[in-house]
Amino acid sequence: MTQTGNMTSLIMIFGATGDLAVRKLFPSLYRLYNRGKLDKFAVIGVARRPISNEEFQNSVKDSVLTALGKNENIDEFISHFYYQAHDVADSGSYGALKELANQIDEKYELEGNRIFYLAMAPEFFGPIALHLKSDGLTDVKGYKRLVIEKPFGHDLESAKQLNKQIRTAFSEKEVYRIDHYLGKEMVRNIEVIRFANAIFEPLWNNRYISNIQITSSEILGVEERGRYYETSGALRDMVQNHMLQMVALLAMEPPIRLTTDEVRSEKVRVFRSLRSISGGEVDKYFVRGQYGSGTIEDEQVPEYRAEPMVDKESNTETFVAGKVMIDNFRWAGVPFYIRTGKRMKTKSTKIVVQFKDIPMNLYYQPEKMLNPNLLVIHIQPEEGITLHLNAKKMGGHLDAQEVKLSFANTGINAMNTPEGYEKLLYDCMRGDATNFTHWDEVAYSWAFVDNISDVWENTKAGDFPNYSSGTMGPRASDELLEKDGFFWWPVDYLDVDICK
Ligand code: NAD
Repeated sequence: MTQTGNMTSLIMIFGATGDLAVRKLFPSLYRLYNRGKLDKFAVIGVARRPISNEEFQNSVKDSVLTALGKNENIDEFISHFYYQAHDVADSGSYGALKELANQIDEKYELEGNRIFYLAMAPEFFGPIALHLKSDGLTDVKGYKRLVIEKPFGHDLESAKQLNKQIRTAFSEKEVYRIDHYLGKEMVRNIEVIRFANAIFEPLWNNRYISNIQITSSEILGVEERGRYYETSGALRDMVQNHMLQMVALLAMEPPIRLTTDEVRSEKVRVFRSLRSISGGEVDKYFVRGQYGSGTIEDEQVPEYRAEPMVDKESNTETFVAGKVMIDNFRWAGVPFYIRTGKRMKTKSTKIVVQFKDIPMNLYYQPEKMLNPNLLVIHIQPEEGITLHLNAKKMGGHLDAQEVKLSFANTGINAMNTPEGYEKLLYDCMRGDATNFTHWDEVAYSWAFVDNISDVWENTKAGDFPNYSSGTMGPRASDELLEKDGFFWWPVDYLDVDICK
């Protein structure tokens, strides 16, 4: 995991005029540059629109200023950027690109190292990979790496097809499948919290943990992404990748070393242990929802079916709650509850590890049981950890009350916290694929999700829309936990002590 690679590279960004490149990739590269993390580098932006190098460089400059509010050394930075108008289906376009790439490689002494970043619509991923090989762009004496955005396929079958196309041009070790949650500081922290603390790891199993809850809620609706979202839905957009990745990091065994292969193979073992859900059992384990109209932050917002590019009778889910069981020795019997949705009450991603109750409660708490211990990992927007304990109430006799110990990743530390994409780009340049998803992880997670989406696609959800905008999802999501004697810990209750 800590190998230091060669930071000299030619980065080709396909889709360089798109939203992802402008909002995330250019500012991240700039931050790496300003921190002195890039050795020799150049960027070729590739997209459909015919614009000049100068126009492209100015768009990079604007994107940095908009994202970061500053841009010292920007002229030197953007002088490394070139632009090539390109038609992804035309071999002639790739020939011209190859020529430009070779010239730039020589000019900046980039040693034939190439990163191809596909920031484009997923239907182009396979064809581009094939052209890169057939038109000679991957014939280099240095390293070649393919960075590929989500979604990686639409289901297991299409993911296999895509993988086959990619693998004709790149080996598995050369493919960097982005899951941007794996670039988030507190997601990366899960391993450290677990494996570097004597007070957690011995308790991290079904003897001491009663359930784990992962919530990733958004306030935003589908916005202009209706066309994509209609074919995706929350299950494919969030569960197949981000939510299951967090489950894997929470559930995996300690790797014997922190190398890419060891960490990934432990995660794959978790995916292999996921209890598969048969068609008839989907309702027992999973709940789907779609937002209706409602009020968020004093503003009236429309229902999903009234959003642009959305079918007026859409069956697409904008909310998913599920109970994921991991059938292995460590986790047998411990539910991992996940929920994610749009137009919810708050924007928040949190993990709550709920410990089992102590065997006998000797202490009195007025009108309620002793609170269970909770470990809360705040992923976003706040970053931190809170540990909920019980302690003696000040001045009381032996009454217990809950106390919360919090660490908030704010202040000087957070100012310097690199953005997710910055870390992932840096990892890719170093050749560290630990925080990218291996094909096996993708395949197992699609197999798990396909069982659910097959049922949902073929049965109309009669109760859609079934939650109002500005709430935490449909009632059935609460019932999913109530059946097991649990409840979702309210997000506001968990927020209390962590600085924003
Ligand atoms: P976008 O629509 O804003 O940009 C698409 C880019 O592709 C543009 O530069 C366009 O010129 C180029 N393009 C389209 N057709 C082309 C063609 N035939 N030939 C050459 N160039 C062509 O898309 P985006 O939002 O930047 O998303 C890109 C990818 O990243 C998608 O796979 C998306 O799912 C993924 N992604 C985006 C975000 C985000 O925040 N935008 C987040 C996560 C994942």
